[in-house]
Amino acid sequence: MNPIDLTYVLRELAKRVGVNFKSDDSNPFKHTGVEVFYSTNNNNTIVQPSITIIPSENSCWDYLLFSNTKIEWVLKSDLIPPNHNDSDSILLPILFWGNNTPHIPKFIINKNNITLYYDLIAGTFFMLSRWEESVQSFKDKHGRFPAEHSLAFKQGFLDIPIVDEYALILRSWIQYLNPNWKPLKRKPGILLTHDIDHIVKYSSPLKLFKSFFTNYRFGKKSIINNLKLYKNECSNPDEALYYKNITELAKLSIDNNLNSIFFFQTSKKSLYDSGYDINIPAIQSLIVKLIESGFTIGLHSSYFTMNNINKIQSEKFLLDKLIGFQSIHCRQHFLRVQLPDTLRNQEEVGFLYDHSLGYPQHEGFRCGTCHPYHPYDLEKRKELKITVVPLIVMDNTLRNYRKLSIDNAEQQLLILANRSYQVEGTFTLLWHNTSLHGNWEQWGKMYSNILPKLVMMLNK
Ligand SMILES: [Zn+2]
Repeated sequence: MNPIDLTYVLRELAKRVGVNFKSDDSNPFKHTGVEVFYSTNNNNTIVQPSITIIPSENSCWDYLLFSNTKIEWVLKSDLIPPNHNDSDSILLPILFWGNNTPHIPKFIINKNNITLYYDLIAGTFFMLSRWEESVQSFKDKHGRFPAEHSLAFKQGFLDIPIVDEYALILRSWIQYLNPNWKPLKRKPGILLTHDIDHIVKYSSPLKLFKSFFTNYRFGKKSIINNLKLYKNECSNPDEALYYKNITELAKLSIDNNLNSIFFFQTSKKSLYDSGYDINIPAIQSLIVKLIESGFTIGLHSSYFTMNNINKIQSEKFLLDKLIGFQSIHCRQHFLRVQLPDTLRNQEEVGFLYDHSLGYPQHEGFRCGTCHPYHPYDLEKRKELKITVVPLIVMDNTLRNYRKLSIDNAEQQLLILANRSYQVEGTFTLLWHNTSLHGNWEQWGKMYSNILPKLVMMLNK
């Protein structure tokens, strides 16, 4: 890690710790009255309260990823100051150790000076920079880094926001050294997001034609019904089920007093994009109504924008033209992200927030965090300006990739939401407008039933 990397990590940790600092501050912890050092010298002799985190060696990074060695898990209560109130003492994985080996003791208290032998700095940088995605070439058929190859999945901590947990540990030490310092706690929240991939069931005659083959066993009647549906939905899209589901999603959000972002596509039809036209009156008026109701509209950038800046730029232009102002939120269709190119391009064309960083194959904390954060460009060794809002769960992940039962999916949603709230983070959920009725009927019911539960848990 170089000094720029370190400053980046200190700032990201300081935000979660709750330090009030300016975004260009290179030493954010000075505002707490406690110095934080990352060095092999323990600063036991200085008068000012200090925390020294002993660094691991760079060679540990390869070892961690490629050796398949089991990571050491430690009770959180063994990592925080004695007598610190810790109501949920969970086990946490420690990815890196100062001086490279698991330590007993894990910290040393010497009057005003604390030495930590667990390397929270490297652990945070490992997760936030997505280094593992840049050094491993595994891709699924859509060019995405698969969850199964991530360290978090392999070592069983994809369901723990470890960066946020590390920050809270650091907070506890700062409070121990300076009880007068008060952290600025972030209010946990729920963010509902909806990718609008389809407005009608059959986006082309070809899709309809294909449905004849899949439905042939249901007989001639089914084929005629599909043909009628196709004709009817094409001439009256506002009568289409997927269209009406958008209004239903909006109503569910309003009823539960929650925020939603609706991501619309503006791309032409492709093998993976349905190519609906946002300029037809039915969709235009729907988008206007959503904006008037206080919802946010973002771009659902099409399949082939992953590494094509001209394409994402022209798609943004079309959306901005329709809504009459600059869109600032973006999510990649199929969650196709190539790091750092996709994020760089989004930033370059004017997006302020990306919502694509979640694994399609598995729910959980891909980046080890549920706090919005600045991603890191490992090629240029610099922090990007765009903010990533990590995606925690997508509907398709639970049903199609993981094949969970509805009960298990609901339980998993509640667990991950609770984990997010406990670290003062945002639980971001993606629910498509295609996932409410028809084949998704029971899942749609679960979605509408779980929203009040998520809100109740949040307000507890
Ligand atoms: Zn999509």
